[in-house]
Amino acid sequence: MTTRITIAKGDGIGPEIMDATLKIILAAGAQIEIDEIEVGEKVYLSGNTSGIAKSSWDIIRRNKVFLKAPITTPQGGGYKSLNVTTRKFLGLYANVRPCVSFAPYVRTKHPVMDVVIIRENEEDLYAGIEHQQTDEVVQCLKLISRPGCEKIVRYAFEYAKNYNRKKVTCFTKDNIMKQTDGLFHQVFNEIAAEYPEIENEHWIIDIGAAKLADTPEAFDVIVMPNLYGDVLSDVAAQIAGSVGLAGSANIGTSCAMFEAIHGSAPRRAGQNMANPSGLLHGAILMLKHIGQGKVAEKVHNAWLTTIEQGIHTYDIYEEGKSSKKVSTSDFAEAVIQNLGKMPQQLKPVAYGETKALNLPEVKRKQPAEKLLVGVDLFVHWPGTSADELAGIINQLNTSEYELTMITNRGIKVWPDGFEETFCTDHWRCRFKPNANHVFTQGDIIALMNKAISLNIDVIKTENLYHFNGVPAYSLGQGQ
Ligand code: NAD
Repeated sequence: MTTRITIAKGDGIGPEIMDATLKIILAAGAQIEIDEIEVGEKVYLSGNTSGIAKSSWDIIRRNKVFLKAPITTPQGGGYKSLNVTTRKFLGLYANVRPCVSFAPYVRTKHPVMDVVIIRENEEDLYAGIEHQQTDEVVQCLKLISRPGCEKIVRYAFEYAKNYNRKKVTCFTKDNIMKQTDGLFHQVFNEIAAEYPEIENEHWIIDIGAAKLADTPEAFDVIVMPNLYGDVLSDVAAQIAGSVGLAGSANIGTSCAMFEAIHGSAPRRAGQNMANPSGLLHGAILMLKHIGQGKVAEKVHNAWLTTIEQGIHTYDIYEEGKSSKKVSTSDFAEAVIQNLGKMPQQLKPVAYGETKALNLPEVKRKQPAEKLLVGVDLFVHWPGTSADELAGIINQLNTSEYELTMITNRGIKVWPDGFEETFCTDHWRCRFKPNANHVFTQGDIIALMNKAISLNIDVIKTENLYHFNGVPAYSLGQGQ
């Protein structure tokens, strides 16, 4: 069956690597019809800060499968990254990056590496919600949701099940971020229990990243929140051989986008030099997704054969190792000549019939019992003595609630602070009710009104809750 897909040739080396990729997959028998749209630099510079026209969104949403070459995001000028916008608009929650080494044909310190990084793609710090709150402090909100965690973790386990992977590893920093990364880890444990046949483990991200960079063969599938996944998927691709060889799939419930992981390499544009392998790899992932696994297999094995023959573009060419330095179009031609051949040394792939992973809808949990138990007032105050600030803020106390703690950048500075602790102009003042008082939103308004009358500059408040009786907010460090 023919699948109608959308393509965008993008900027820089984009058009060259897209032409090479399409030529290869069509020669291999891909059953696709193509709608081409314009995205990227030209659209940005025509005054559209999103980099894409509305009519192009209509085509992407109708076809649901999008093969995108890299684009150049102009610096400054309020231009929004089209990659991030596309992932979020289309709900492409899973970013899948297989990172496999091609030893001994492409230089790598990790000859047996075969890791798939599954990165959450929609939330975390990439919500991009940032504010300057005081002269000295800016803030970026890290948003992690239970449905977001459930979708990506289940995707990782379904991926492992479907592709006969043995282990799923989770990376978080939940020893520090107990609420946000803690939720990701907790959901990982819950969902892992549903897949007893697949090994599971959790690593704190810092030592996990070190282990990945040093001993990638210890890992199989790794799932992680957005920012960690962004950084570590590039590391994994690079240590496998080159970022120029890796593709990625961005998967949503109804739409999917496939791309190379590298950018538009403008310095190499128009010279017929670039390696089309990253986008070709993206196209292979696309063919698997649209149920053309046999074609994907044929292309993948021909690509491996070409690499094995030492036919290399400049980025992976090495005297003594490579047999021929080729252009983008000659590399494509060599892959086409190799269609039907199997690599001799590199492990051939066998996909057979494939289909997109079909995940059950996330079931929303019953709302928990939520109890307001206090409030944090964040105050802009230019002084440096926490005791002096406590003297000011204590004026807001009533017989029903009072100031219990002040922190500065999370560290407790009152009561019993250390004079060595460096303080900025951004202070968190925690108010808790006494044992007999039921704290309400009205108390927060009263607190705010009194703060205004005392010229206390409250720059934001955060409500403190118990969910089902469990405190759901962080303590001050040192508390
Ligand atoms: P880049 O990945 O474009 O290039 C970095 C260097 O890697 C290049 O100078 C080149 O030497 C090499 N390289 C990359 N791809 C190659 C290939 N296929 N073959 C051979 N060599 C290759 O990164 P950059 O220079 O930081 O970014 C350039 C532009 O790309 C920026 O505007 C950036 O915003 C954009 N970008 C786009 C995407 C995307 O569309 N998905 C991703 C990353 C960066």
